[in-house]
Amino acid sequence: MIPGPIEVEPAVLRAMGEVTTSHVAPNFIESFGNSLELMRKIWLAPNGQPFIIAGSGTLAMDMAVCNLIEPNDNALVISTGYFGERYKNILETYGANVTVLQADIGSTVSLELIEKELASKSYKLVTITHVDTSTGILNNPKPIAKLAKKYKTLSIVDGVCATAGEETNQENWEIDIVLTGSQKAIGVPPGLALLVVSENAMKIWKERTTPVQNYYGSFTNWLPIMQAYENRKPSYFGTPPVNLIKALEVSLSIINNEGITNRVQSHISYACAFRKAIQKLGLHLVPKHDEIAANTMSAIYYPEGIDPTSFRKDIAEYGVILAGGLHPEIKNLYFRVGHMGSITKSDLVATLSAIEFALKKQNYTFISGESVGAFLDNL
Ligand code: PMP
Repeated sequence: MIPGPIEVEPAVLRAMGEVTTSHVAPNFIESFGNSLELMRKIWLAPNGQPFIIAGSGTLAMDMAVCNLIEPNDNALVISTGYFGERYKNILETYGANVTVLQADIGSTVSLELIEKELASKSYKLVTITHVDTSTGILNNPKPIAKLAKKYKTLSIVDGVCATAGEETNQENWEIDIVLTGSQKAIGVPPGLALLVVSENAMKIWKERTTPVQNYYGSFTNWLPIMQAYENRKPSYFGTPPVNLIKALEVSLSIINNEGITNRVQSHISYACAFRKAIQKLGLHLVPKHDEIAANTMSAIYYPEGIDPTSFRKDIAEYGVILAGGLHPEIKNLYFRVGHMGSITKSDLVATLSAIEFALKKQNYTFISGESVGAFLDNL
């Protein structure tokens, strides 16, 4: 129950264990092409250009920047935790002048502040962390992307902890890049960087006047490969991770068969009920309001007087694995629960009972079973 890598469906694992074929074998070409087409459907970006590249989510963040940024471009980072800071570092690597709008822990940056900053100078791009995994903060990319459009700025959404679990409508919301990694709500083991790039962003990449300062991540190398596989033709630049892509095809098909809207709705329903259950125990979330709390994960403060190490040890003993804190300023004050992908009601009930078990061991006062009751009442 950590916020990634998540547990994956047995069918996805079976694809990982299949015979590894040649990267130009006809059945693999079909899987690769089909995965690219499924990404467009799940991202709701019928005219976007999908990329499937071997690497982690950070590579997807890196590719979005290295292909669009030219030295001395201005870039705006909306930071709601650890992963905003990472975007600043990546942008600076490619010579951008970076401005960070930093939210207080547990809050988001106001739209007024974002608009004021976008209006103050010409920004090439703005980055938004859809769900910051270090704080459990949910940013709504829609109004921010709209502002970006207004000021002719590209919008990049880091959806690593969100895509396929939180609402996104890339084309309708006019977001230029939505990127993720395979190991979270996409439901595949780690190892794939996934991006969908708008027609507008591809045009800006084509028109750049300086070369891309990255070899492996350059669209120049990968665009022909994606186009070839989508046209069911073999091609080669770097050997694709054959089994991971087969697993991706399986997981994207599961999500697509369920329907992305239904999938997102079930994340919202489970997350709302889970938050109510946690609050019933008197525990507090890191996000200050439910409207800005993620639906893919929850970041929860330990109650006063609870020893974090024994708490997590007791939960593990009960059979549930949770994650500790990640944000450096509050690292030892909170824990994180992932509830994305093919999570079930019983996974959440088991998690709540494990939390109750660990709290009881430390003589925390509450009525046994009340979190599970609140969860069921709010489903
Ligand atoms: N962005 C967010 C919001 C993340 O949660 C993570 C991973 N936890 C990353 C980026 C980086 O992804 P990866 O670890 O796969 O490189």
